[in-house]
Amino acid sequence: MAIETVNPATGKQVASFAALTDSEIEDRLAAAHRASLSWRNTPLEQRVAVLTRAAELLEERKAEYGRLMTLEMGKPIKAAIDEAVKCAVGCRYYAKHAASALADERVDAAGERSYVAFQPLGVVLAVMPWNFPFWQVVRFAAPALAAGNVGLLKHASNVPQCALALEQLFTEAGAPGGVFQSLLIGASAVAGIVADERVAAATLTGSEAAGASVASIAGQHIKKTVLELGGSDAFIVMPSADLEAAAKTAVAARAINNGQSCIAAKRFIVADAVADEFIRLFVARMKALVVGDPMDERTNIGPLATRQIRDDLESQVERSVAAGARIALGGRPRRGAGWYYEPTVLIDVPADAPAFREETFGPLAAIVRTPDIEQALALANDSRFGLGAAAWTRDETEIERFARGLDAGSVFINGMVASDPRFPFGGVKKSGYGRELGVFGLREFVNVKTVRVLPSAAPARSETE
Ligand code: NAP
Repeated sequence: MAIETVNPATGKQVASFAALTDSEIEDRLAAAHRASLSWRNTPLEQRVAVLTRAAELLEERKAEYGRLMTLEMGKPIKAAIDEAVKCAVGCRYYAKHAASALADERVDAAGERSYVAFQPLGVVLAVMPWNFPFWQVVRFAAPALAAGNVGLLKHASNVPQCALALEQLFTEAGAPGGVFQSLLIGASAVAGIVADERVAAATLTGSEAAGASVASIAGQHIKKTVLELGGSDAFIVMPSADLEAAAKTAVAARAINNGQSCIAAKRFIVADAVADEFIRLFVARMKALVVGDPMDERTNIGPLATRQIRDDLESQVERSVAAGARIALGGRPRRGAGWYYEPTVLIDVPADAPAFREETFGPLAAIVRTPDIEQALALANDSRFGLGAAAWTRDETEIERFARGLDAGSVFINGMVASDPRFPFGGVKKSGYGRELGVFGLREFVNVKTVRVLPSAAPARSETE
């Protein structure tokens, strides 16, 4: 089996790699296991020094890494370079904060010395998607390595060169052999690795189907998992919102990464009183987006990452129109080479139309109107997903209602949902479980160990056991 780089801007294959054989996978598993035995006992300062060096390399090589991301999955080059820089920020965050987050926590219990310790689990398998080919991996790897775990990366099959570059990055940053390895393998090889007794846990970012598959195998083998899955984030605009700012941010939130982000705003729920004006501003800005060669710095929207994603989007638009949605802009793939799709706005989208019910991965916005906040909340929460949500309002009572009432892992008021190393990131419902980033992300793959050193004369068992 071959793992290939196909340039989505041209549809042409530009590189091909042989997938690892079973015996090569075995060698890497053995190396990861060996490495985990020493890495867990490597002083924390040495572990985080690797992250600091990785941050320096990411900054030095941001142009090179950016070009690689754009070549393999088509995101605009400026965003790709920014992604490399964000990875550096993430590495530095954990280099700085790992010591305090992993420090023993004393527990006040009379007459004894008690504390909670945070210790590594061992080898963690990370199954990752192509859409943020560096950031998704680094936000797993930085906390995992800082905590003393070792990483095995199974990256998406369409970004093999990013996978290899990431392995080289951590190696050059000083990670000893086996501490971070990329496995060029197809999805069918994942089950055996999850089941392998040398693998302690798994994290997957991707589709529901892939998450369910990995989690069920991990469940059979009693292994911890973290799942970061899809999203269909709501972006709510209330009458008191700054409409210009809301429309500008709404377009950025929909168009990010050519529309292929789990936390891209996908469902726009707009109060009746401002809907016509918001739609006018939003459509004008969507229309102004520059679609074209992702290597060109002026481009806002490049091609979708694969032909399949483009075809799926086309089908979602067709089925939504058949269900009663109206096209206010776009609505077609672009002719010619590459997997481009026109920025598209659907209005009056019925709540049962695919553009509202399914995750849409591409520059497609679905707009619905709402009479009031009750309906806005009900529409926003009427989704199988619960990753992020944004609400625009200047009304303090509404702010509190949205903050508490939206069923999502993140709620942003007067902004767009974004990941940030300082804050936990993850979802509820079919968007997955567990958290990445922040202190919560660092503690996902640790043994939270209770240690109680009792006075030697104390009874062996607590009465309140
Ligand atoms: P995908 O098809 O699920 O692929 C993701 C990863 O899972 C790839 O490495 C893929 O390998 C692997 N995979 C696929 N099927 C598998 C299976 N049955 N068993 C084990 N591994 C399997 O998802 P995608 O289309 O690449 O990525 C887009 C999805 O990721 C969207 O739903 C998006 O919302 C979600 N996402 C979520 C977050 C988040 O943080 N919540 C962030 C980014 C993306 P192959 O490439 O070899 O098939």
